[in-house]
Amino acid sequence: MSTRRPFIGGNWKMNLHQQDAVDLALALADKVSGDAVQVAVFPALPYLLPVAAVLHEKGAPIAVGAQDVYTQPNGAYTGEVSLSMLQDCGVTCVLVGHSERRHVIGEADPLINEKVLASLEAGMDVILAIGEKIEQREAGKTDYINTGQLGYGLAGVTDEQMKRVTIAYEPVWAIGTGKTATPGDAQRAHMVIRQAIAFMFDQDIADGVRVQYGGSMKPGNAAELLAQPDIDGGLIGGASLKADDFAAIIDAAAVPA
Ligand code: PEP
Repeated sequence: MSTRRPFIGGNWKMNLHQQDAVDLALALADKVSGDAVQVAVFPALPYLLPVAAVLHEKGAPIAVGAQDVYTQPNGAYTGEVSLSMLQDCGVTCVLVGHSERRHVIGEADPLINEKVLASLEAGMDVILAIGEKIEQREAGKTDYINTGQLGYGLAGVTDEQMKRVTIAYEPVWAIGTGKTATPGDAQRAHMVIRQAIAFMFDQDIADGVRVQYGGSMKPGNAAELLAQPDIDGGLIGGASLKADDFAAIIDAAAVPA
């Protein structure tokens, strides 16, 4: 693990109804303390407000994030939710470009870039998720895909704004499948991502950016993944739905290398 402060995010996806989401937030508030690790949870949209409220009431060091954003300010955009509405609900962090939005909903790089830019402009922290599909990996295109998504996603981002950007490397074939990249493969991909950021910005910025790993991270494999020098945390799906598992991953991230 690096000297960068690890960042662990819990992507609850389209799971948990209100009481379950609030109960999970309350359980996490009891288990998560200290500031060694930055922690955020990403509940489903209707439950941002109650989850943020209980975490705030408990004084828990857990930020609340949105799983998606829209680029435009308040106005005639039926069905969408603005960045200022999210902020009004206590959201400080947004997830952009998750593989399910790219490959299930059909979002392409230009829209993802617009979302990154609008979110940063609004003052949000941004997690930009990138990652290759299995056929791309098998064709030897992992770095090509990752650096391409990175280049598109971060186009127009300023050096100053990069301080609020985290990259989540999530190989698509590892998300929700129980398959995990080996620590060595993940480290290699993270190293290439960091090199690409140095090329796009500069070495100082690249050295400061957190690159999370996502893809079936769980208590049993977290420590080994998080021990890699370019892995600075995790974006966790399935294991973030269980307070004990998520807290165990946060504890693993808190252990110095
Ligand atoms: C995710 O949703 O970003 C994710 C990595 O899911 P899982 O941990 O379930 O693979």
